[in-house]
Amino acid sequence: MPLVTSKDLLERAAREGYAVGAFNANNMEMVQAIVETAEEEKAPVIVQISQGAINYAGADYFAALVKIAAQKALVPVVLHLDHGMDLRINVQCLRAGFSSLMFDGSRLPFAENVAITRQVVELAHMVGVPVEGEIGKVPTTGGEAVPYEELRQFFTKPEEAVEFFQASGVDSLAVSVGSAHKMKVQEAILDIERIAAIREAVQIPLVLHGASGVKDDQIPAAVKAGIAKINVATELGKVYTAEIKRAFAADPDEVDLRKYTAPARAAVKEVVREKIRLFGSQGKAPAVFVDGGAWSRPDVVREAPE
Ligand SMILES: [Zn+2]
Repeated sequence: MPLVTSKDLLERAAREGYAVGAFNANNMEMVQAIVETAEEEKAPVIVQISQGAINYAGADYFAALVKIAAQKALVPVVLHLDHGMDLRINVQCLRAGFSSLMFDGSRLPFAENVAITRQVVELAHMVGVPVEGEIGKVPTTGGEAVPYEELRQFFTKPEEAVEFFQASGVDSLAVSVGSAHKMKVQEAILDIERIAAIREAVQIPLVLHGASGVKDDQIPAAVKAGIAKINVATELGKVYTAEIKRAFAADPDEVDLRKYTAPARAAVKEVVREKIRLFGSQGKAPAVFVDGGAWSRPDVVREAPE
């Protein structure tokens, strides 16, 4: 099916008590792994592209890749810009056909963050594309865990979230509640009460960044409290590169690229599957009935979901 926006997807997830996985892709194999697994799990999914990935390959390349993957899938697929750092990158992605944007002004003073977010929202809403904003700050680590006391200074305050939401008009909100970007160890614990208080105050879907570093047992409570989109990037990169290292260790003279990207793609699929199940989004894609009731696409026929 064509790309869908994140608006209805996230509002429905927030209402029904699960979270949609938002997985970062850096190449074709990652896009395929994410969308194929979402389809196997009958889960709605967000493929997100960072500004770094866009600098690497171009917004148009990723738009084309994800549109092809979405077209072949019978589950809703969103193409989202992750951490757009300025207005320009947001406009470029809008033009390239992204169906969801993010402006991250968390490094800026409050008023400046609001002003630019508002600009992105006004432009994107003209063509029906929703926007994620960030208030508070999810810090980035060198891979290690950050002491909770240190993280607290970055936490999102519910009253600040309300003011930001009302002034900017964002559709979803990234919050700082105990996670950090690029953590290679899974040790972070979350301030669940804070998540619930923010959700209560703003009533829009909340987004958890840096989920690779968050302990699995924190996730169900965070989702129940109001997290409706969960970002996973580092963990996918970890397993992808681990498989490539393994393939090279087994045969250092291999020159056929596919001999190491294929197992890497397969390994990413299993992490995506685990996350989809942990977030509770498996089976949440609206059923598509074709070919006399079977869940199918041209080259795949499976049983319809209950
Ligand atoms: Zn992030």
